[in-house]
Amino acid sequence: MRGVVFDGERVRVVDDLAVREPGPGEVLVAIAAAGLCHSDLSVVDGTIPFPAPVVLGHEGAGVVEAVGVGVTHVAPGDHVALSTLAHCGTCAECDRGRPTMCRQAIGRPGKPFTRGAGADPVYQFAANSAFAERTVVKAVQAVRIPGDIPLTSAALIGCGVLTGVGAVLNRARVDRGDSVVVIGTGGIGLNVLQGARLAGALTVVAVDAHPAKEAVARRFGATDFLTSAEGVRELLPTGADHVFECVGRVELIRQAVDLLDRRGQAILLGVPPATAEASFLVSSLYLDKSILGCRYGSSRPQRDIALYAELYRQGRLLLDELVTAVFPVEDFDKARAEAEAGRVARAVLTF
Ligand SMILES: [Zn+2]
Ligand SMILES: [Zn+2]
Repeated sequence: MRGVVFDGERVRVVDDLAVREPGPGEVLVAIAAAGLCHSDLSVVDGTIPFPAPVVLGHEGAGVVEAVGVGVTHVAPGDHVALSTLAHCGTCAECDRGRPTMCRQAIGRPGKPFTRGAGADPVYQFAANSAFAERTVVKAVQAVRIPGDIPLTSAALIGCGVLTGVGAVLNRARVDRGDSVVVIGTGGIGLNVLQGARLAGALTVVAVDAHPAKEAVARRFGATDFLTSAEGVRELLPTGADHVFECVGRVELIRQAVDLLDRRGQAILLGVPPATAEASFLVSSLYLDKSILGCRYGSSRPQRDIALYAELYRQGRLLLDELVTAVFPVEDFDKARAEAEAGRVARAVLTF
């Protein structure tokens, strides 16, 4: 079968991949569509160290092809969106509704794929590898969605939407009437904007250096748009309740902290290099302010993916508008060029 493989030096589309049958508690999914997220490119450029060879992709949706022993919540033919969280479901963190904190759900890459006549093993990225015609995931990762949602749109729920909307609803817990500033309006930032709208935030300021982003930012929920955070104080003289940094630059993290109102919180979603350090005035945090990290929107995938799918059906959550280009998997290089040039919110590959 076809898939996008990074061999440690080059990334290319191959047609000699195979995937094993689902074992107990696993699901085999025929991928229909998968979004190209920056994390996939970060594996290729080394920002995210990952063993190779590896099948890329971690934001996908498709149709269940087979289930392993003990899987009862989905059946062949069901449409599913996939999460990247291979949590155990039995530890104390899973039990208290914090699967993103499960210690089983990070840094244990499996090798369900093989390549070529020699059946050389190939790693799975983010417990997912959605850039393949078929992949095997744990049962907890396959979330059933209504069959009438286009799979090219549903594909985006599993990373960008869970991360951005989840950060607003689950981590920051934005409340009705709150003020929100979103720095950076790429794929994550747009989802933070629509999360703020869902939460009932009153003032939602989008900040992006590119003025051309204004229309789409307003579409997703921004009430104001600025090309620099300098102007935020004119709109919010006492500061903001929540500032989301979605770019991953330390000077913008500092700006996010400096923009906080009393009891405000800065939520860090951008990913700077692993050794980056940021600074802030200690005195600037005295008035009950906080700086929050957030993994994967603090999501509970079986609950949240189903919720976002239903909000989409009701017209309250935008997915189609996030898909700015669709390519067959053979054109991975074109999708990559679009993403690297920043021309698209999300390029989606189809299989
Ligand atoms: Zn991603
Ligand atoms: Zn667990």
